This record gives sequence, C-alpha cells and structure tokens, in this order.
Amino acid sequence: MTTEQSSSAPGRVVGFVGLGNMGIPMTEHLVAAGYHVRGFDTSEAALRTFAALQSGSARQPGSKAQKASIEASESANEPGEAGKAREAGKAGGVTAVGELGSVGDGADAVILMLPDSDIVERVVLGRLASEAQPAAGTTGSAPLASPARGAVGGGLLGSLAPGTAIIDMSSSDPARTRVLAEIVASAGMTLIDAPVSGGVSGARAGTLMIMVGGPTEAFDRFKPMLGAIGKRVVHAGDIGAGHAVKALNNLMSAAHLLASSEALIAGRRFGLVPAVMLEIINGSSGRSGSTENKWPNYVLTEKYDAGFSMRLMVKDLKLALSIEQATGVPSAAGEAVVATWEAALADLPPDSDHTAIARWLANRAGE
Ligand code: NAD
Repeated sequence: MTTEQSSSAPGRVVGFVGLGNMGIPMTEHLVAAGYHVRGFDTSEAALRTFAALQSGSARQPGSKAQKASIEASESANEPGEAGKAREAGKAGGVTAVGELGSVGDGADAVILMLPDSDIVERVVLGRLASEAQPAAGTTGSAPLASPARGAVGGGLLGSLAPGTAIIDMSSSDPARTRVLAEIVASAGMTLIDAPVSGGVSGARAGTLMIMVGGPTEAFDRFKPMLGAIGKRVVHAGDIGAGHAVKALNNLMSAAHLLASSEALIAGRRFGLVPAVMLEIINGSSGRSGSTENKWPNYVLTEKYDAGFSMRLMVKDLKLALSIEQATGVPSAAGEAVVATWEAALADLPPDSDHTAIARWLANRAGE
C-alpha cells in the first residue's frame, strides 16, 4: 500500500525506534490509523515481531509469519486493530529497517520508545550529550545502535532530513531532554517529549495518557498522530514538561503500590480476605490504580506480568526524587519510596515486573 504525503498535516510515514513492550502495541495503533511505520530496534527478535504486524500475527511468538523477511514490507495486518482498519481500507503498513540511519526516510517524525536518557542520547547523537562531539571523520563512543547510514557518530540526527521532528515518548530525564532539544534545534530539527502512562494494557487498548512537552506549534502539529496512539493528549508545557510530570506520576504510582501492598499484606495476616479488602477499599478513600488494577490483575492472580519492569520503575523514581530535591521540596516520602524499591530491585531477578514488589514484601513478612 502506498502512503500519501500531505502538505498541511504531518506525513503519513513515521519512524519508530524501540519496539519493546510498549513500542509494538503503539505502532499497531499507528498502522490502524493509516500510518506507514518504519521501525528499528537493536533486538532482532523485536524487529521480527514488528515485521509480523503486517500479517497480524505479532502476538504469536514463533509463528511462521515471524520468520518472514524483516525487510521492506508494505501492506498491513489482518486481525486486531490494524486488521479491522485494513478491512475498512484505512490501514497503513510497516517496514522493519535494519539500520538506524534509514528509519526516518520519508518521515516527518521519528518516535523514540527507549529505556532511558542514556540510550535516547546515543540513538539521537551517537554519543552521550555530556561527551565531547567527536572530530569530523571519527565515530566517538561506541554507539548502542547499529551503524547508521550518513549519521554523524552513528546517531539519528545525522541521517534525518531538515525539519524532521524527533518525538521522545520514552520516560527520560527532563533536564537531559532540555539539553538534547537544544542540540537537536541547532541541527535544524525539533525534539519534543511525549511520554505516556497507562502501561502495556493501555498501549494495547489505545487508551494511553500522552503528556507533551514542547512548543505549541509542535504540539498542534503532532497531536493528531499522537491521538492515534493514546486516548488523551495533553500539552504539559515547554520542553521537558512531559518527562517531568511522567516521573512525578510514577513516584506517586510506586508509592501507592508500596503502601497498598503493605496494607493489604498486613490485612491478610490479620485475617482479612484480600479480595474483600479490595472491594471495600475501591469504594473508599484508599483506592488507587494499584488497588483498582495492579492488585486484582497482577498480584492476586500471581501473574506479576504487567509488562513494566522494576528496573525501569526505579529509574523513574530516581528522576522524580531528583526533581523534588532540585526544587527544594522536603522529600522524606520520596526518599523512603526510592530506598524500598531499590532494595527490592537488588534482591529480585533483573527482569522482574514492577508488580513483584508485592510478592517481595510478602516474602519479607515471612510468607
Ligand atoms: P522495553 O525494554 O520492553 O523496550 C525497549 C526497547 O528498546 C527494546 O526492544 C530494546 O531492544 C530497544 N532498544 C534498546 N536500546 C536500543 C537502541 N540503542 N536502539 C534501538 N533500540 C533499542 O521497554 P518498555 O517497557 O517498552 O519501555 C519503553 C519506555 O517506555 C521506557 O522509557 C519506559 O520507562 C516507558 N514506559 C513503559 C511502560 C510499561 O508499562 N512498560 C509504561 C509507560 C512508560
């Protein structure tokens, strides 16, 4: 399927770097909305899952379609969101690209959905922003991404056409985002931040909250595209504002999960039934996303598979605490939350889901 470009709206081709737990379902919604998504990830498995979106079988690991060539796929999905859109003649398609340097070809914007600011900077610049720019003809520090066609130092910035926007939807460090946006602007491009809340389930359902930091013109320009991924797209403020509110939101979310887990485990050990406690609390003032969603769906079921790792949660908590400290806010609660989550992360296997903190607490209580 050939995609059309429009001079008055963002183009229908979008680049996407970071096809992980969140990236894959987010790209599915872009395809369903008619975008042609050019995806890149350093993980071969992630690229294969992405390429399989064209046949609608991305969520069936090991399927025949996943073994298909990952290069140059046009057309779109069958079942699911994108499949329904295809039946209605509205779907776009996917191209899994093998090198970072061509992910933005023909695109007005490249979306990043990466673990953290270190990786975002290395993908954009081919180095950390705090590192000196390498002299012409050298490659600087070893890039995490594969060598990029035409890219200075292996970074995306060297391969994008002037005027292309980079939309960092990762949960990055807001202070570093501001610095990175200045470097990107000096190269004639725009970087905005647009992190999300709602988890993997929200990404699949297309119900994410998207919080945007950047100039109003950029927000207005990309709001329709972001609206294909999430249900609400809010202009949080200037560059870095989205990343700041995202980190602070996660500090509250982590505090809620910790406090509710302590209380629910104490109640269980007192003799109460957790499901009954949740019914009462969810009609009372102690309710939160943790009691309404995480405890019933991931803790009581003993699945612990919400899709958001404890490692990434702790990264966000440290960012939030540094914002509290930098702004002079007494942060006793934040410090206690970070210390407990760090202790859990140190004790548990590296890829543990963040909801496993409830099991960790129960174990420490002797269960
Ligand atoms: P993930 O680890 O599942 O996915 C990250 C992807 O980035 C992986 O596929 C990895 O291979 C890829 N990657 C790493 N380095 C790369 C590089 N140099 N070049 C290209 N690709 C590279 O993580 P996720 O859970 O999808 O989270 C992504 C971001 O979204 C994080 O910043 C996270 O904090 C945030 N977030 C996650 C959730 C969630 O519920 N999982 C919710 C909201 C926000």
